[in-house]
Amino acid sequence: MTKFKKFNYFDSRERKAVKRVIRSGELSGFYGNWGAKFLGGKEVVGLERNCEEFFGTKNAVSFNSLASGLSASIGALGVEPGDEIILPPWTMSATAAAVLHWGGIPVFCDVDSSTYCINPDLVESLITPKTKGILAVDIFGQSANTEKLMSIASRHNLFVISDSAQAIGAMRNNRFAGTLTHVGGISLNYHKHIHSGEGAVMFTNDGEIALRLQLIRNHAESVIGDIPNFSNLVNMVGHNYRMTEMCAAIASEQLKKLPRIIAQREEETRNLVDLLKDVDEISLPYVDSNNTHVYYIFGMQLRVDEVKFSKHELVSELSRRGVPGLSTAYVNVHRLPLFQKKTAIGTRGFPWSYEHSRKNISYAVGICPVAEELQDISFFSFYINDYILKRSDISFIARTFKQTLKDLRNSTD
Ligand SMILES: *Cc1c(COP(=O)(O)O)cnc(C)c1O
Repeated sequence: MTKFKKFNYFDSRERKAVKRVIRSGELSGFYGNWGAKFLGGKEVVGLERNCEEFFGTKNAVSFNSLASGLSASIGALGVEPGDEIILPPWTMSATAAAVLHWGGIPVFCDVDSSTYCINPDLVESLITPKTKGILAVDIFGQSANTEKLMSIASRHNLFVISDSAQAIGAMRNNRFAGTLTHVGGISLNYHKHIHSGEGAVMFTNDGEIALRLQLIRNHAESVIGDIPNFSNLVNMVGHNYRMTEMCAAIASEQLKKLPRIIAQREEETRNLVDLLKDVDEISLPYVDSNNTHVYYIFGMQLRVDEVKFSKHELVSELSRRGVPGLSTAYVNVHRLPLFQKKTAIGTRGFPWSYEHSRKNISYAVGICPVAEELQDISFFSFYINDYILKRSDISFIARTFKQTLKDLRNSTD
């Protein structure tokens, strides 16, 4: 059976960076009081400047995870209990948890069945007087339709946040995913395109949002009394969401490798698509014409009307024959127990039960039919980010797909 090489882009450059930090003895440069070190040490500040230059934004603010960065963003934008945030259910749970952490109410909007990103045409019907913002997810490696979302937001005076965890380095209209909305961010978690074990960077061109992100990151409550003319106390309850010097030093090295990693991923997927494009039974990833796709996940759909077997049968047979990294599902966050039972913070139904919350928010199955159908019936994926694929691996995958589909067709005819 073919042995697939695990994704690993670490070498002497990262080792050297780590040694430099260890020798310095300063494994974190943050101080929790207002002053030069409030914004972190040399490596953290260096990473943020490198990211500003690479991604082309005025401000980059690092965090110890994107879960932290998204949560800080919800806080920084002034979300209060009962405020509604519109987001897709086809994402990692952390996207929705960021909203709940501040007592905000996630309102799920169905996804586009070809890009898997939030369907902007459905957003406006979900806006209520309580709506404060839209949290878009650049899922699997390409950007959501940010122009449409930004124009809806400006009509209704909302903010837009991008969760670009899986789309680092992806472009939309020649600008980077994560930089096209009021705030956006990338994850540097071990499982992402580039990583420092754990970590994340948020982007914004708004200096005031950047400051509020920096404050929430580093014990806001204890320092705001020392900031001249600082008067907006809302959500200035801080956390310790700080990145270590070692993570930042590694991340700066990883960032230099990003273009090469993306180029390699583009070549792998081009070859795979080329070999699979004449297979009638499955639809391959669709790339919006304004986007580049960095393929964190290679998403596919079984054309169930044309076959007599299920995606579960297909994926289990492909896995048995040695194709790695396959999965029959992604996530429908609204179906998690927390939403089904509306139990998040404490036992009294907060935030849904709060007096300023709208009372009839539904998370019933059926609210996002496209995402649910994808999950239950047609969608399956190849977690391409886990591997470095050789030409022979790609031909093995394509050959196995074709043979398996043929065998399943013959056995079910
Ligand atoms: C990985 C991921 C996150 C969380 O990132 P962490 O840095 O691991 O907290 C959030 N959203 C999406 C879509 C992700 O894939």
